[in-house]
Amino acid sequence: MTPWPVPDEKAARDAGIAKAVAHLATGRLVVIPTETVYGLAADATHGTAVAGIYQAKGRPAFNPLISHVASLEMAQRQGLFNTDAERLARAFWPGPLTLVLPKAHTATVADLTTAGLDTVALRFPDSAITCAIIAQFGRPIAAPSANRSGRISPTTAEAAATELGDRVAMIVDGGPCRVGLESTIVACTGETPVLLRPGGVSREAIEALLGRPLVRVGQDVGGNETGKPVAPGMLASHYAPDAAVRLNVTDIRDGEALLAFGPDLPAGADGAVATRNLSPDGDLVEAAANLFSFLRALDTADCTTIAVAPIPHSGLGEAINDRLARAAAARG
Ligand code: AMP
Ligand code: MG
Repeated sequence: MTPWPVPDEKAARDAGIAKAVAHLATGRLVVIPTETVYGLAADATHGTAVAGIYQAKGRPAFNPLISHVASLEMAQRQGLFNTDAERLARAFWPGPLTLVLPKAHTATVADLTTAGLDTVALRFPDSAITCAIIAQFGRPIAAPSANRSGRISPTTAEAAATELGDRVAMIVDGGPCRVGLESTIVACTGETPVLLRPGGVSREAIEALLGRPLVRVGQDVGGNETGKPVAPGMLASHYAPDAAVRLNVTDIRDGEALLAFGPDLPAGADGAVATRNLSPDGDLVEAAANLFSFLRALDTADCTTIAVAPIPHSGLGEAINDRLARAAAARG
């Protein structure tokens, strides 16, 4: 009988895990297997690394990402579990269920990971190799599907390589994905758990465990349609500052705070109530990593309006400008 794991295979697997952890620790991207689809992973606590995910995918907008953990304890450091959330986690983790929870005060995930929201999406995937990577790394990893924007989620390492092979430090091959379908997303942020996205764990299984119906986003507790359209991008309400947002400014007015970009500041910058520079060197990856925390910092400064300097539209600039345009529109 052949012993398992075969000693050489185990050594190769351990070496692969150690290599993946080393890449993550230096802010690099690694493609990881999960039971749902292959993920494009980065250190969820490292804003610049997470910005790299958006750059590699060529995503034109920032959506909050799922942070992957390797234990319930690890998840509890990031999110506040109410009774329903803890029951769901104990029943379905590891597995294709993502929980959206209020961020815990001990949370370490980057603002870009949650797209500035005060909730966090957490999942404990059912993949021994990926869980070993996360456990050794000791921090959550952010991972959307490992495909370029607008393309199909890969369920094999080969498909992930075709999508992103030239843009990542490493691809960890865990064989074909067992579920091949995205995770079910349930928000436990209020009285009633809300189904944000159907996926690998069925609504019936969740309702059986909770002993009551699951409200579907877009419906009221009675299951009646609220009439509000629901598209994937609308599942998470977007972070918007309280202050008004003025875009592409070349001059600072009285009472305004300044969100700058690059070495050249707008006229009157000295008079700004507060200033943050997304990237003094004009680096869009650094700017993306700083975007949400700097918006929040300026929003708490005593200003009526956040004035935003022009930001180039190339690369990550598209997603940055998309989010700034939403922030500006939120106050009309
Ligand atoms: P994917 O990584 O492609 O499976 O997509 C992640 C999904 O989780 C997206 O539909 C997000 O909108 C959703 N999501 C992640 N974080 C949150 C959050 N804090 N609140 C609501 N939805 C979230
Ligand atoms: Mg996807």
